[in-house]
Amino acid sequence: MLDVMDSPTHSALSRTLLQEVRMLASQFQQTFGRVPSFMEVCGSHTMALARTGIKKALEGYVRLISGPGCPVCVTDQVTIDAMISLTNGSDRIICTFGDMMRVPGSYGTLMQAKTEGKDVRVVYSPVDAVRIAEQHPHQEVIFLGIGFETTIPILAAAVKEAEEKQIHNFSMWMSTKLVEPILRRLLHDGEVLLDGFLLPGHVSMVMGREHFEFLATEYGLPAVISGFEALHMLSAIRHLLMSALKQRAIVLNDYKSVVAEQGNKQAKYWMNHYFTLCDEAWRGIGVISQSGMDFKKEYDRFNAKIKFSVSTSEPRRTKCRCGEVIRGLIDPPQCALFGKACTPINPIGPCMVSSEGSCAAYYQYMREE
Ligand code: SF4
Ligand code: SF4
Repeated sequence: MLDVMDSPTHSALSRTLLQEVRMLASQFQQTFGRVPSFMEVCGSHTMALARTGIKKALEGYVRLISGPGCPVCVTDQVTIDAMISLTNGSDRIICTFGDMMRVPGSYGTLMQAKTEGKDVRVVYSPVDAVRIAEQHPHQEVIFLGIGFETTIPILAAAVKEAEEKQIHNFSMWMSTKLVEPILRRLLHDGEVLLDGFLLPGHVSMVMGREHFEFLATEYGLPAVISGFEALHMLSAIRHLLMSALKQRAIVLNDYKSVVAEQGNKQAKYWMNHYFTLCDEAWRGIGVISQSGMDFKKEYDRFNAKIKFSVSTSEPRRTKCRCGEVIRGLIDPPQCALFGKACTPINPIGPCMVSSEGSCAAYYQYMREE
């Protein structure tokens, strides 16, 4: 049941909003003869829509598709394979965010490498990895840098600290992703019919509302920047429906308390100071040109890909359908492994590992018993 409905503060407003959304969705169906589809491109929205019950309450009215918004879910197997290969040096400490420990590569996880005695550590921030490098001057500390535009400035802050402190045994394996190129790719491929986007609050905080104008001007689609509370998300879906009904392409900032028109200029400055655009491999999608950021040449000394030689092969194919899930082609239960071979305790693919993954959200909040 909707926890938003049960909240004593918000219940009345939420019920009203939900009714309005259902009414608008019915109008859309009468007008266009189909259910409207919106994609959220933020892992936290995926989880929040499932947790609050909004996704379930809108079944049959609005199709909410979980797009490629979780950095863990889109990290390809080859990156994990490379990190596992890097654990093989005796003088090395590998650091990463917690969720990455259980993401399967072609032949195992970083967690398995750790249980085999390799020095793999979970850190909460890349700056913690810089501190570890400071404390272990005779070992090489390598941080696996994943994330979208929200995290890239934080990675830059860690490199800045290492640079200022002249720490030479710290480097980063960059596997970052950018939202704009993946949205363009999805729209270009046209595999799934979309009527608009629920845009990520945190990425927009860095990039600003104007960054997403291309959705309206080039693709004629509405998009709404939303916060993470139930009321925020219901309000955003209502805006999307109203725009879609009127065939009005507009990029709306419905999270003005946090997101500015031009974003965070300082965060953008630092990400562009150390990093430059690069081609990136997305799990289940493949390489997308200029869809990530990696070190500029002058910072090669911090670039683990330059500092260490690692050979990886083609990723092993599995029955995991995460690639189709994050492209919106299937819902998690359509994967034969969902809830059987693949559960949060024993995840086969990253969408079940990540606390923000679509399969984990479905398993936790929407699974039919
Ligand atoms: S970092 Fe923020 S905006 Fe990006 S996926 Fe996670 S919650 Fe969403
Ligand atoms: S249920 Fe598991 S195996 Fe299937 S797509 Fe999701 S993560 Fe992959």
